[in-house]
Amino acid sequence: MRDAEAVTFAGGRIDRASHLRADAAAQAALAADPRARGLALWHGRPLLATEETLRLGWLPLDAPLFAEAAGPAIFLGIEEGAPCFARDIRDWDGAPDAVEGFAATPLIPHPGLDGHGFGDLRANMADLDAAEAGTAAAAKGILGWHENHGFCARCGAASEPADAGWRRICARCGAQHFPRTDPVVIMLILHGNSLLLGRSPGWPPGMYSLLAGFLEPGESIEAAVRRETFEETGVTVGQVDYLSSQPWPFPSNLMLGCRGEALDRAIHRDPNELEDARWVSREGVLHAMAGHDPDLRPARRGSIARFLIERWLADTLD
Ligand SMILES: [Zn+2]
Repeated sequence: MRDAEAVTFAGGRIDRASHLRADAAAQAALAADPRARGLALWHGRPLLATEETLRLGWLPLDAPLFAEAAGPAIFLGIEEGAPCFARDIRDWDGAPDAVEGFAATPLIPHPGLDGHGFGDLRANMADLDAAEAGTAAAAKGILGWHENHGFCARCGAASEPADAGWRRICARCGAQHFPRTDPVVIMLILHGNSLLLGRSPGWPPGMYSLLAGFLEPGESIEAAVRRETFEETGVTVGQVDYLSSQPWPFPSNLMLGCRGEALDRAIHRDPNELEDARWVSREGVLHAMAGHDPDLRPARRGSIARFLIERWLADTLD
């Protein structure tokens, strides 16, 4: 797929400079660099600057906000000569009631920072520049990994961060742990002029999207597309092609966008997985994307589902 990397979160351009992560002297020099800057995240929400356009709210590393940081400073890499770090300031007691939910939530202001606020990444992802969205995804993903992987998966003892935040080591058994990514297949299942869409229980009214599911151990991408589609809808899939991938740090997924050719149209839905599944014609999807169908609301802007559906409609999947 020619513009596969145009999907939100896939446009990260930061030089991760991974050879500097385990070099303590280099890390000290990077942190002391006057161009060094930090991105604060509060409960997974990056600090955003509300200028004319929405930007990441980079601050100098000695900003008072970082005095409240928990856990290690994560070295994200170097961007235009500036060493970039991510810091988790979850202990800041800002507006804890507003943590839940992400749809259209406003930015949560910090009293010391005019023109800034903590924003949910899903609610704001499509308004960030592609490179900044990619950096934000990396920062959220790696900080989320530290928050949820403080203990050794082998022996249960507390582990310690290493390599500027890109590794954890168990002090008891010595096991090394690396940031994890969990692959998910998400698929345009096509039959003639129609697209298979489903909705999960609990989604906003009328919202439909592509089928998706986690890969299992020992499974190829193609096999996972066929299995998930059959399990959820009873539809048999033949040819499967990989199209595009999207880092999805909610909390640690990599979405693998595929196209699959259905061999039949009969739907036998699994009611535990899906509240509804239906074939929708190209014209029906276009109608819905234009906002004309109250019973069919398209996937969120910035999602790989929306990205793939738009390119299917424009006939630019190849
Ligand atoms: Zn251990």
